[in-house]
Amino acid sequence: LSRLFGPITQLSGMQELAQTVVVSFSRVFELLDLKPLIRERPDAVDLEKNKAPDIEFENVRFRYPTADEVSLASLEHLRTERERGEVSPDVLRDVSFHVRAGTLTALVGPSGAGKSTITHLVSRLYDPNSGTVRVGGHDLRDLTFESLRDTVGVVSQDAYLFHDTIRENLLYARPTATEEELVEACKGAQIWDLIESLPLGLDTVSGDRGYRMSGGEKQRLAIARLLLKAPSIVVLDEATAHLDSESEAAVQRALKTALRDRTSMVIAHRLSTIREADQILVIDGGGVRESGTHDSLLAAGGLYAELYRTQFANPDRDAPKPELEEAE
Ligand code: ATP
Repeated sequence: LSRLFGPITQLSGMQELAQTVVVSFSRVFELLDLKPLIRERPDAVDLEKNKAPDIEFENVRFRYPTADEVSLASLEHLRTERERGEVSPDVLRDVSFHVRAGTLTALVGPSGAGKSTITHLVSRLYDPNSGTVRVGGHDLRDLTFESLRDTVGVVSQDAYLFHDTIRENLLYARPTATEEELVEACKGAQIWDLIESLPLGLDTVSGDRGYRMSGGEKQRLAIARLLLKAPSIVVLDEATAHLDSESEAAVQRALKTALRDRTSMVIAHRLSTIREADQILVIDGGGVRESGTHDSLLAAGGLYAELYRTQFANPDRDAPKPELEEAE
C-alpha cells in the first residue's frame, strides 16, 4: 500500500511548498497518476482579504483516502486483492472547535493523535468525510483555490529549499517582491545578518552544492517566505529537532513577528509557545479531549496536566520537546 500512498505522503510533506509556489495541482496529480482529492466549485467565492479570519471545525469526521480512492486505473496492477476495497480507519472522529480571528491556538497531544491531520484539513489538502471546516464563516469547499492559497500559509518542520539562489527561494513566495521587501522579510525572520555576511548575499546558491543551511537557518528562511506571502492564517509545525540555543532563540523571535495579528494554529513542542497560546487543544484518539489555557488546563488536572508534569515541568527543558509526542 505504501507504494501507492508514497506520492500522497510526499505531497503532504510538500504542503508548504505547494502552497507557497504557484503549482498546477491538476498537472501534478496527472503526472503522479492520481485522482485529484479536492476540486474547486464552479461558483466558488474569494475570501475577504486583509482581515484575519476565524477557523471553525464542526463535527468533523475524517479518514485518509484508500488507494482505491486516489489512484487511477493505470495503477490498478500494483494493488493486491486484499488492498482492493480496503477501508481506512477514521483518524478524526467528531472534532469541533473554534479559533477566534487573530489568536494563537496550540495543538498538543500524543503521537498519532491527529494533530497534523487537523492542519491538513485547514489548508484543504483533503475534505472531511462529514462535518464542516469553516474559515471566515465560509465552508472551505466554497472558496476558490487561489483565495485559499493566499489565505493559508504553512511552515512545516522541514522547509523545502530549491537548489537555487536564496533570492529565488524567497521569490517563490511572492514573485513581485522588491529588493526592499526581500530584505525586510529576512530581517523579520532574523536571517538577514547571515545572508548579508555571505559574499554573494541574496545571490548565494543554497543546497548541497552551494551554501548548506542549518536546520534553524532553513526554518528562518521559511519564515521569511511566510512574511513575504503575508497570509492571514498561519499553520505551523514547530520543529522537534534540537537547534543550538542561539538558533532556537532566533527562530522564536522570528515566529513572534510571523504570527502577529494572524490567526495561527501551531503543533506545539515548546512550552513557551504553549504558554503564550490563547487556546490549547489537547488532541487524543482523533478528538479534542480538552481545551483551555495553560493555567485552566493545569488546574483541571486532566491529560494536559499529566503531559505537562511528565514533559514540561522542568523550566530548564524549555526546548523542542519531541518527548511530548511520544507520551501516552
Ligand atoms: P505526530 O505528532 O506523531 O506527528 P499527529 O498527532 O500529528 O502525530 P497525524 O500525523 O495527524 O498525528 O496522524 C494521525 C493518524 O493518521 C495516524 O494513525 C497516522 O498513521 C495516520 N496518517 C497520517 N497521515 C496519513 C496518510 N497520508 N495516509 C494514511 N494515514 C495517515
